[in-house]
Amino acid sequence: MIPLVDLKANYRRHRTAIDAAMRDVVENTSFIQGPALKDFERDFAAFCRTGYAIGVGSGTAALHLALAAVGVGPGDVVAVPAHTFIATIEPVSWLGATPRFVEIDPETGAMDPAALKSAIDGVRAVLPVHIHGRPAHLNEINAIAADAGVPVVEDAAQAHGAELTGPDGSVLRAGGAALAGCFSFYPGKNLGAFGDAGAITTNDPEFAAKVRMLRDHGRTTKYEHEIIGYAHRMDTLQAAVLGVKLTTLDADNARRAELMARYERLLAGVGDLWFVGETPGRRSVHHHALLRTAHRDALLASLREAGIGSGIHYPVPLHLQPAYAFLGHGRGDLPLTEAWADECLSLPLYPELTEEQQDRVVYAVVSFFNRVA
Ligand SMILES: *Cc1c(COP(=O)(O)O)cnc(C)c1O
Repeated sequence: MIPLVDLKANYRRHRTAIDAAMRDVVENTSFIQGPALKDFERDFAAFCRTGYAIGVGSGTAALHLALAAVGVGPGDVVAVPAHTFIATIEPVSWLGATPRFVEIDPETGAMDPAALKSAIDGVRAVLPVHIHGRPAHLNEINAIAADAGVPVVEDAAQAHGAELTGPDGSVLRAGGAALAGCFSFYPGKNLGAFGDAGAITTNDPEFAAKVRMLRDHGRTTKYEHEIIGYAHRMDTLQAAVLGVKLTTLDADNARRAELMARYERLLAGVGDLWFVGETPGRRSVHHHALLRTAHRDALLASLREAGIGSGIHYPVPLHLQPAYAFLGHGRGDLPLTEAWADECLSLPLYPELTEEQQDRVVYAVVSFFNRVA
C-alpha cells in the first residue's frame, strides 16, 4: 500500500522533538494562548515574510475571521473560485454574504483575473485560492481589486511557503501578497497539526490587532469585550507541534518539488496525461501532485486496485454543490472549472515518499495507459 499522504512516517521523523514540545505544554498546563503559541506565531510570520501571524482554530476559522475583520456582512458579495474546497465559502455564508463564482484560468486552476474583472461590480471582497499549492495570479487580482477599492484575502490553506514575484520584483510568499492570508494546518496540509489549527498572516498592524481580538471573544482584557468576537483560538498543544514541523517546512517543500518534477519526467508523454507545470515568477509547494486525464475515473479505480492511494481535488465544483443549489447554478455555468473537476487526479506526494515507492506509482500509471491504449 502506498497512501496518498503518510502522516505516520511524518510523525516518526519528528517524534522526539514533538513529544518533548507537547510534554512541555502539558507540564506547564499552558493550554490556552501559551508561550508555544507566541513562539509559533513569530516563527510562522518570519516564514511567510509577513509582519504578523495570528494562530486560530482552523483554516476555516482563519477565513471566517479575516472576512469578518475586513467587514464582510449581510448582503455583501465575495468573489471566489468554484474550484476549491467548500471551506473557502462557508464563512462567506456565515457572515450573511453570498459567493460570486469566478471562472478559473485553465493553465493553473486558479481564479482567472480576466473573469474577475468582468465580475467585480458590486463585490465587497476578493478571495482567490492558491489551489494545489500553486500561487494564484495575485498581481493582476490585486490591481483589479485596488481599482474597485475592495480588499483581497488569500486562501493560502494549501500554499505554506509558495512564492510569487510581486509587481516590484520582490519575492513574496503566500499570505504576504494581499491584505491577509488564511492558512490551514489540517493534518494532511504541507504544515499539519495533530488536529485542527490555522493562522492568519498580514502586514497591517491594525488588521492584526482586530483579528487577535475577534479570535478571542472580542476581548481587550479578561472580562472586557469591545466587540462581539468568536471562540477561534489555536490550542497551544497544536502550536507546539507546528513549531517543530515548521523547522523542516522549506526542506519538505523542496522535496515535494523534487518528487513532483520526477513524476512529470517519468510520466511525460504517457497517455493523455497533462501536468500544470511551473510558471515563471511563481513557485508552487505542490500540496497535490495534480494531473489531468480524460480517463480519470478508470485510472483512479486501477490505482486503487494496485494499492495506491489517489484523490480527486475536487470532484464537485462549489457552484454545483447541493448546499449552494439556492444560488441557481447549473452545469455549463463554469465550463473550465467543470472540466477540471471531471479530469483531475492527485497522486501520492509527501516528503517521506521514497523513489522506490514513487516508481511503483509510476509503473501502475504507465501499465494502466498501456491497457487503455
Ligand atoms: C483545508 C482547506 C481549507 C480549510 O481548512 P481547515 O483547517 O480544514 O478548516 C480552506 N480552504 C482550502 C483551499 C483548503 O484546502
